[in-house]
Amino acid sequence: MRTITTKLTRIYLIVAVSVLFCTGLISLLYFYNHVRAIAHDNLNTQAVAMAGNLESPVAFRDVAFAQQTLKALQHYPDVRMAAVVMADGKYFAKYSPDTDTDIDSLQQFPLQGEFITVNTHGVVQDITFPGKTPARLVVVASLEQINRKMVLVVGMSIAIGGLILLVAFIMFRHMSRLVTRPIEDLTAIMRKVERDGDHSQRVRIFSDDEIGELAKGFNAMLSVLERQNTSLNTELDERKSIQRKLDRLAHYDTVTRLPNRHYFQERLLIAVEHNIRLSKLMAVLFVDLDNFKLVNDSYGHHTGDHLLRIAAERLSSSLRAGDVVCRLGGDEFAIILEHLSDSQQIETIVDKLIQNLSQPLRLDDHDVVVTGSVGVAVCPQDADNPESLLRFADAAMYAAKAAGKNTWRRFDPEMASQPALRLSLENQLRVALAERQFEVHYQPQINMNTDAVDGFEALARWNHPDHGYISPLQFIPVAEECGLIRPLGEWVLRTACRQIVAWSLDGHERLKVAVNVSVRQLVHPHFVEQVLAILAETGCAAHQLDLEITESILMQYSDKTFSLLQRLRDHGIGIVIDDFGTGYSSMAQLKNMPVTKLKIDKSFVDDITTSHSDLAITATIASLARNLRIQIIAEGVESNQQVLLLRQSGCHAFQGYHFAQPLLATQIPKFIDGFHHRQQALRSLSADGNVKLAGWEAWLALPARKPGYLNC
Ligand code: C2E
Ligand code: CA
Ligand code: CA
Repeated sequence: MRTITTKLTRIYLIVAVSVLFCTGLISLLYFYNHVRAIAHDNLNTQAVAMAGNLESPVAFRDVAFAQQTLKALQHYPDVRMAAVVMADGKYFAKYSPDTDTDIDSLQQFPLQGEFITVNTHGVVQDITFPGKTPARLVVVASLEQINRKMVLVVGMSIAIGGLILLVAFIMFRHMSRLVTRPIEDLTAIMRKVERDGDHSQRVRIFSDDEIGELAKGFNAMLSVLERQNTSLNTELDERKSIQRKLDRLAHYDTVTRLPNRHYFQERLLIAVEHNIRLSKLMAVLFVDLDNFKLVNDSYGHHTGDHLLRIAAERLSSSLRAGDVVCRLGGDEFAIILEHLSDSQQIETIVDKLIQNLSQPLRLDDHDVVVTGSVGVAVCPQDADNPESLLRFADAAMYAAKAAGKNTWRRFDPEMASQPALRLSLENQLRVALAERQFEVHYQPQINMNTDAVDGFEALARWNHPDHGYISPLQFIPVAEECGLIRPLGEWVLRTACRQIVAWSLDGHERLKVAVNVSVRQLVHPHFVEQVLAILAETGCAAHQLDLEITESILMQYSDKTFSLLQRLRDHGIGIVIDDFGTGYSSMAQLKNMPVTKLKIDKSFVDDITTSHSDLAITATIASLARNLRIQIIAEGVESNQQVLLLRQSGCHAFQGYHFAQPLLATQIPKFIDGFHHRQQALRSLSADGNVKLAGWEAWLALPARKPGYLNC
């Protein structure tokens, strides 16, 4: 690019050189002509004077005198030759400063008037005298000296002209900087702005001429741009930060700060492709917190959120670096385990995870135990695509819930329809309640000390029109989660109370009924009032009713439930701790609890025949209960041997298939009569020492009815 300076310099040079050349040329030409004219005039003057002096010699034909007169020309070095030419053309006298000049060469000049060539000029002057033909004086002079001087003058003029040009150029350059510098500055700033995008640059104002105006305008434009840029940048920053927040929201959960479902799905897709490509084993874990909703409902969302954060930390700390844990929503978490060596490794990780999760914790002044149920689906064995893996892990998690929570299950193809069933279960539960598809079955509780049927545990049954009986293990957790447990529990309680009153009217006044109470019912603010209202409504005596609450729940919510249990107790209602032995209750807690009965969990009863420690524990529980004046009963009793060992341990009340499965209400009178008769028979037989405590079902001639739940 040609700069303005270059252009100006060019213009300057063209103009200056042209002007200088033209003026110099004109001046020199003029000067040259002038000098030549002077020389010519001088020559002419001399010729005139000499012609006058020659009149006499010519008139008297005095050649010598004429020659002498001509010789006076030697004082004029420019004169090359001179001659007096007569009218007939003959030379009368002639003069030449040097001898080798050929005077005849005069012939080449016009011998009249005057003439001037490049190097020579001459004049012809008539020599007159009266009455005679005039002769002529011819004087020829050289112009060479003038020419030489002229060359010198031209040379000097060029030198001076050059010098002037140079000085003028320097001055021009200096002065042109006044114009070009602001423009250069402007250009430099413009380039900088263009290159760096830095609108804070400003041009220095040198003058208030047009360039100054231009610079001011440029600066003003930069200010506007800078302001716009600043606001644009601020807006951009805001947008970016909003975008970041949106991204975070889109990918992270705000409560636990764990990645969310969206992120999980993206990550799972990558993990599946990666692990399949490398032929590696990977697993998806679906974790659902047990009883989270309960904590949320009981202690509020703040505590619920706190719990979720702790659960998230516990899950994260149970995993290896690189494993991904996300919150899918609610109390559901999902985990991706990659690069696994074998299934054993999954087992180790999941065991650790469940163990960590179930550690008791203090949450906003409440002691809480929150466990987790985990479903595991392994890629590629169980599925090789993200959707199926997550769905299968979900199904396995429900299987873990159904297996009693706080445990894990690996996916089994039979579980495939579980989540779908669960969804429809929720809807169907509502229909079932409205259409009275529920039943209450009664499982007898036998007291070996009194040889009598003490009472029954009321167990809910869902007699589904299409699927037959569905296990409460399936529908109670769903009812608890969707809140239907309250109307359902109320219905079971009302039905059981009504039933016990009916049996009382039939002559079985001493019978009691134990009704399971879900913790979601228990924490309802009007639970006590509801129970009392049902007792009043059905006419059931308070002492005929036991409420069963599982040990783990009771201990967890002891601070919340203590007073209401006390109120129930004050009204004469029995309080049974269900599944006792699984909830880690302390002696001190138990002592302060308004409890009337402990129900030894089936898991102890199951192992009592093989495990000495379980036997010892049962004995300890029995003696503890005796000391605290709390009754005990063993559940899940399936064999005569268990009965014997339990009795040795100090437990005399039993419930279990060994005696009877849960029965329809209509079967109960027959069972009671049968039991009564059998005991009488046994007593008489025992006198003969011929007792066989086996074959109850056959003996009572009752149908050996297994629950027959839908296996789903
Ligand atoms: P649970 O309270 O521990 O009830 C005892 C369960 O063990 C019953 O299962 C019963 O049928 C079963 N069982 C009794 N004796 C034996 C035995 O000798 N061997 C074996 N293998 N099982 C025996 P069910 O009826 O399926 O009930 C399961 C659970 O559902 C109950 O456990 C209880 O937690 C819950 N549940 C049942 N009805 C209700 C209800 O009306 N309300 C609430 N909240 N929960 C209920
Ligand atoms: Ca129970
Ligand atoms: Ca139980």
